[in-house]
Amino acid sequence: MRRKDRRIGVVAFGRVPELVLEVVCAHIVGYLRIPAEIMMALEDPIYAYDATRLQYNAMNILRVVEQRAFKHHEKVIGILEGDLFIPTMTYVFGEARQGGRVALVSLYRLRRDRDGGTAPMARILERMAKVSLHELGHLYELVHCPDRRCIMHFSGSVEDLDEIPLFFCRYCNQYLRERWGREPRV
Ligand SMILES: [Zn+2]
Ligand SMILES: [Zn+2]
Repeated sequence: MRRKDRRIGVVAFGRVPELVLEVVCAHIVGYLRIPAEIMMALEDPIYAYDATRLQYNAMNILRVVEQRAFKHHEKVIGILEGDLFIPTMTYVFGEARQGGRVALVSLYRLRRDRDGGTAPMARILERMAKVSLHELGHLYELVHCPDRRCIMHFSGSVEDLDEIPLFFCRYCNQYLRERWGREPRV
């Protein structure tokens, strides 16, 4: 894929509000200055549903979705309403392999506030944008950042997530700029 063709795809698994997909696209374009577009929705990844945990196994979804060609998109962010887990953690907001092509983000935990109620839509969208840019950072091989004022800082709870800013620290920003200063490998 040539550099001028670089594009990020944002795809819903099953039903996801259009506004959520649009907000994720807008943040990718606005913050990372990479074209992003909404792709045709994929089916609910029922094959990855764990009936005991009542959650989706993120690793199984990634394994399946990474097989797809996605010829027109350098990286793809998949969004779903269902709760995600990985075998070593109770839940995850999102999941991506370092340097992989596909990231996942779940709305499930982002919709809830600390009192157990539903968070206001504006906060849900902000959290969604943060997790999406964070996972995209992993797809471009950024690791967790020790700086609490960086979007690549690890958040284990929605409270942590609300604390971190919606931007990359100077160090992570510089990494991305240097990386994108040359041709991508794919
Ligand atoms: Zn992370
Ligand atoms: Zn950082």
